[in-house]
Amino acid sequence: MSITPDNTAVHPDVERVLVTEEELYARNKELGAAISADYAGKEVLVVGVLKGAAWFLSDLTRHMTCDFTVDYMAVSSYGAAHKSSGVVRILKDLEVPLEGKHVLIAEDILDTGLTLKYLIRNFLGRGAASVEVAACVVKEGAQEEKIDVRYVGFVLPNEFVVGYGLDYAQKYRGLPYIGVLRPCVYGE
Ligand code: 5GP
Repeated sequence: MSITPDNTAVHPDVERVLVTEEELYARNKELGAAISADYAGKEVLVVGVLKGAAWFLSDLTRHMTCDFTVDYMAVSSYGAAHKSSGVVRILKDLEVPLEGKHVLIAEDILDTGLTLKYLIRNFLGRGAASVEVAACVVKEGAQEEKIDVRYVGFVLPNEFVVGYGLDYAQKYRGLPYIGVLRPCVYGE
């Protein structure tokens, strides 16, 4: 049986594919192995930042052999425009207390770093024993805040990307690859 989904043909709105489905699979496998080695003998709470990180978290944890639990948080740092507002709002909070826990934040993309800066500070404030970050994508040269991302999937140029959880106006999250939209999609 093939594992290839039906939507592997490149979406007509996508101008270029930057990371293929195969590359995502291979990198998640490597990251899962590294995380499992680092957290061997410990239990880690993997916190997914909704909505975008759900795809990455789900694939990454399939390759993790250490003990882990999962929780989700929903935050909003973007308005309708495709530019960071700098304001982070909690839309859905965690269900479990963080006191004494080793937390691994799974994030779809690190852009300005404002969201992760807020989350790391917030989690340490709640008594987490440690907070590390796994980001599927880090945008090159975009960070306003210095964030130490321990597990980096891909470093990509500073362009707005979609797919693999990443949306534009809530669309394109289900694309199995990461790509750049055609300018006409933004009405440019
Ligand atoms: P930051 O706070 O690092 O600027 O932004 C983090 C959030 O902004 C991400 O979790 C994601 O939701 C959104 N974001 C940043 N860059 C992009 C991008 O290139 N594409 C999409 N679809 N979302 C992005």
